[in-house]
Amino acid sequence: MGKLQQVTILGATGTIGINTLDVISVHSKRFTVFALTANNNVEGLFNQCLKFKPSYAVMLEENAAEQLFQKLQQAGSSTKVLNGMASLEFVSSHENTDIVMAAIVGAAGLKPAIAAAKAGKRILLANKETLVMAGSIFMEAVEEGGATLLPIDSEHNAIFQVMPNIKGKSLANRGVKKILLTASGGPFRTASLEELKRVTVKQALHHPNWVMGPKITIDSATMMNKGLEVIEAHWLFNASPDQIEVVVHPQSVIHSMVEYVDGSVLAQLGNPDMRTPIAYALGYPDRLESGVSSLDLFKIARLDFEVPDTQKFPSLRLAFDALKAGGNAAAIMNAANEVAVDAFINEKISFTDIPVLIEYVLEKSQIKQVTDIEMLISSDIEARIEAKAWMKRVA
Ligand code: NAD
Ligand code: MG
Repeated sequence: MGKLQQVTILGATGTIGINTLDVISVHSKRFTVFALTANNNVEGLFNQCLKFKPSYAVMLEENAAEQLFQKLQQAGSSTKVLNGMASLEFVSSHENTDIVMAAIVGAAGLKPAIAAAKAGKRILLANKETLVMAGSIFMEAVEEGGATLLPIDSEHNAIFQVMPNIKGKSLANRGVKKILLTASGGPFRTASLEELKRVTVKQALHHPNWVMGPKITIDSATMMNKGLEVIEAHWLFNASPDQIEVVVHPQSVIHSMVEYVDGSVLAQLGNPDMRTPIAYALGYPDRLESGVSSLDLFKIARLDFEVPDTQKFPSLRLAFDALKAGGNAAAIMNAANEVAVDAFINEKISFTDIPVLIEYVLEKSQIKQVTDIEMLISSDIEARIEAKAWMKRVA
């Protein structure tokens, strides 16, 4: 066994963070926790610190960090507590960090992920919004820093497993015809357009196959999640929009497929449990025990496939359009989506308003070439302002 690998988990208290700690806890001879971070969940991070004894705990919010510090001190813990975005970047690029699990939700995950890339870490990327917002810049940072990028999103992890990552080669040079990105279709796959208008937050937060944080669960219900994943696949695998086909597969057993020029289609299958891609990326190229139960094909009995309905789920079309438009379009779309999802969860807009709002913001915004990270952050801020103005007027 090699040296103990030190892991930093960005977004430790979320569903991906918790699953990551679960896998790490059964491989304590291989991994140790260097830093854990969260937005403001003091209780959650406190318990994780007692159990995993990281060198650092970082909270984005200062008040939360202060509370965590008091609690840890009382408990006699030696974990150092920091706060703010710069501290997230500090732990993710720290010389003692070997592996960074990037599992913050939304655009907030961008800067610490870039810091990890520049520092040449092994990055386990769950935060797809990083690639959607700043794909070109993030991939450059990975290249320059000599980082190892491993996808955690189950679909991209599946694609990675069936398509050896030959650096810099185009899909055609790898003999790949196209990527078949599977989608569960979410909880409203069979709902009518009329029914979609009356969808409640509670219904939308109930995903048929996966247990996930609230934002990605709503994204799955609108199919924006698949849209974000199309853009994610574009950057990870150097795939053009017409080389990515979305296939609705309600059982979520096939996590994605790659079609080769000789007619071979390779798929990765498994129970829908994020510990599989997490264990794969932690151990790569070794295979690690993940705690996931065996796939029972006899119980599953059948696998279905459908064409996605972009009339009912316009967000998927919007994402393809943003990818084709290029520049800052995907960053604008991502920001508008984050505002829209938050507004829906807080019952300020309806479910079917979500794509309407995103499309409005995209139409209002100026699509520009990407120059640097600052211009993308400005595009993100401007899109959020535009989205909030729409809500004031319409919602
Ligand atoms: P979650 O909401 O359960 O957890 C989010 C984590 O990020 C929490 O630890 C929270 O404290 C932290 N956080 C939130 N806002 C923050 C901010 N502004 N600054 C710093 N930290 C912040 O989310 P999740 O389901 O674990 O998803 C995390 C990421 O992984 C998302 O980008 C999601 O799309 C992606 N992902 C998740 C799954 C899944 O199964 N949950 C699957 C594929 C991809
Ligand atoms: Mg996914």
